[in-house]
Amino acid sequence: MEREKFTILVVEDQQVNRQILRQILQGEYEVLEAENGLDAFAILENHKRISAILLDIVMPFMDGYTFLQHKQKSAFAAIPVIAVTAEKDEAAEQKALDLGAWDFIPKPYRANILLLRLKNVIVRSQFYLIREMQYVYEHDPLTGLYNRTRFFMSTHKMLECHPNQSFALVRFDIDNFHIYNTFWGEEEGDRLLCFIAEFLRRVSRDVPLCTYGRISGDVFCICQPYDETVIGQQVEHACQQLAHYNTDYLIEPTFGIYVIPDADEKIETMYEFATLAAKECKGRYMSYLRYYQPKMNQRILQEQVIINEMQHALDTQQFVLYLQPKYNLKTEQPYGAEALIRWQHPEKGLLMPGTFIPVFERNGFIGKVDYYMWESVCQLLHRWIEEGKSVAPISVNMSRVNLYNPNLVQLLTDLVEKYQVPRHLLNLELTESAYMDNPGVMEKTVLALQDAGFTVMMDDFGSGYSSLNTLKNIPVNVLKIDMKFLSGDSDTVRNKCILTLVIRMAGWLEIPVIMEGVETRKQVEFLKSIGCGYVQGYYFAKPMPVTEYESLVAGITQLPVESLSDNHDHISQTIWSTDPQIDLLFNSIKQPAAIYEYENNSFHALRVNMSYNDYFGYGEAIGENSEQAYSRQLSREAMAVVLDALRQTAETKHETVCTCPIKNGGGSVKMLQIDLQYWGANENTKVIFALFTELSREIDACGAPK
Ligand code: C2E
Ligand code: CA
Ligand code: CA
Repeated sequence: MEREKFTILVVEDQQVNRQILRQILQGEYEVLEAENGLDAFAILENHKRISAILLDIVMPFMDGYTFLQHKQKSAFAAIPVIAVTAEKDEAAEQKALDLGAWDFIPKPYRANILLLRLKNVIVRSQFYLIREMQYVYEHDPLTGLYNRTRFFMSTHKMLECHPNQSFALVRFDIDNFHIYNTFWGEEEGDRLLCFIAEFLRRVSRDVPLCTYGRISGDVFCICQPYDETVIGQQVEHACQQLAHYNTDYLIEPTFGIYVIPDADEKIETMYEFATLAAKECKGRYMSYLRYYQPKMNQRILQEQVIINEMQHALDTQQFVLYLQPKYNLKTEQPYGAEALIRWQHPEKGLLMPGTFIPVFERNGFIGKVDYYMWESVCQLLHRWIEEGKSVAPISVNMSRVNLYNPNLVQLLTDLVEKYQVPRHLLNLELTESAYMDNPGVMEKTVLALQDAGFTVMMDDFGSGYSSLNTLKNIPVNVLKIDMKFLSGDSDTVRNKCILTLVIRMAGWLEIPVIMEGVETRKQVEFLKSIGCGYVQGYYFAKPMPVTEYESLVAGITQLPVESLSDNHDHISQTIWSTDPQIDLLFNSIKQPAAIYEYENNSFHALRVNMSYNDYFGYGEAIGENSEQAYSRQLSREAMAVVLDALRQTAETKHETVCTCPIKNGGGSVKMLQIDLQYWGANENTKVIFALFTELSREIDACGAPK
């Protein structure tokens, strides 16, 4: 078969010259003709496969130079040009080459030279084209990193060339990257991916022997010599970098690592193992990294069985609602319950949520299952109301996945309306770790749910990283604390102190507390003594089927704990004694914090935490009048603002927030926000809790933001 001829575009205003050129070329090439630059562009638009251009420089309308300039910026930039210049016009040659011509030939034409130069240029350009295509074929267009194909290929080569070196394949991605994309937009998502690519490039500079690339979406890989310490450091570094990347959103990466035992294994298989390991982290709070272990295969198989069965189980109502009553600790009578799921499996019997909920959380099915549970509870509440029973709130669990559903509030309001359930009867339990993931997002969702009339409970408070500090910032209605989150025996002095303090603080903030996992009478007595409102646990009742719960509460008028504010006004001084556990707790508040006694327009600190001392340089002088200590850093006017806020808090017993300028080292001035909360009274003095936050903006001497 005859080879298809390359096409040459001749741009030349003189017809005789065009004819000469056609004669020289037409044996080997297809020839197209243009009389000037403008003409040439029109032809380029219509003939997509022109291999080279022979360009006369001197032409009417658009000369050769102008044509070159435009072409360089156009879609035809890659087509090689040979400029045709008058004999010995060195300036013209130089200018044409400068403007991007690949070569030049002087007139008059010498056929053999012309053909040779043309061939050279075409071969060179084809070579570039192939290289370009190869680049596109092997690289990710967004980040410029190797793509999957090339990464696998290069990794294979690297392993082959270093048979005595032990390697590890590290695969990582971003948890819920699609949520990040939805929240911040795709452009921002792309920016994050490029940031990660840049990070990888930097890492690779310290690891001379490595391959890395973007496998797909948000999945990246690096293959490098196996060194657990180095990998640990890289992971930590990546987590830090990502934590700082967007301070409004916690970007959590997940690392799956496969230590390669045999370089002959297929790279695809190695990658699958690293992926299995990464999947083990998903849905586990603060778990970033997992090494592949053979038993993961087994787990994945089991997980696959669950995944295969789940939709059918939902359709055939194998998921069952159990209720665990909550008790009013004062009356020791039931008040409401928590809905807990069970899977009544046709072959395996009754399955506990621990065996399947984590799987659903990983694959997103939890959204459907949670909705099913919420609907079941609404149906139940509806029936009880119809039957004229005494109805107390039932709480449902809400997996964090739901929090990112933009229709969440609508979904829930539609449900309660459909079943005519008063909203205060459907309570929502949200786990603390979900708050900690993304406090900003969470706060918005929680507020929207509360605005819609729902009660939001923070489940498993104390399991995560929140200090007492978060109690203040998070707008929950109820706290649930699990006895199991107290380290070791709940009976130790330390644990008793922690519980006392948390329950008292919650009380002062008027947030009811439910203690979960209460198993003994001794625990009950202790919780009563410190003023805990509600309990839930095996001591009173285990989770039970609905009918059993109905018999349990039959004939009982379910009553909530009376308002907590009665014991709001008297504070026993003992809690602020020098107990080291209390100190420890108070110091866990990261910002400066203090508890003041306030009387007759003057105040002094009962207790301050370490960061308060650091901030105000208070040192030994805790006993000194707080006003004297402050006056080192606060101006007279600022001092008046603080005193006024304290007075207002003492009088109204409400939270007050004030801001005032504070002198900073080096003569600069910053704004300080002081949150004041009324906590109670000792004799005639009021006890006020103060939390200090330095606002980041600097201000000038007049107090205006810079
Ligand atoms: P959770 O929300 O913290 O629920 C409390 C768990 O503690 C329940 O386990 C309950 O049976 C158990 N428990 C209650 N009292 C005691 C006690 O005195 N001692 C001990 N040792 N345990 C006690 P369960 O039912 O196995 O549920 C486990 C977790 O599964 C739940 O923890 C919750 O996170 C999740 N879960 C259960 N149902 C659902 C649901 O419908 N949706 C979602 N998203 N998660 C659910
Ligand atoms: Ca719960
Ligand atoms: Ca819980």
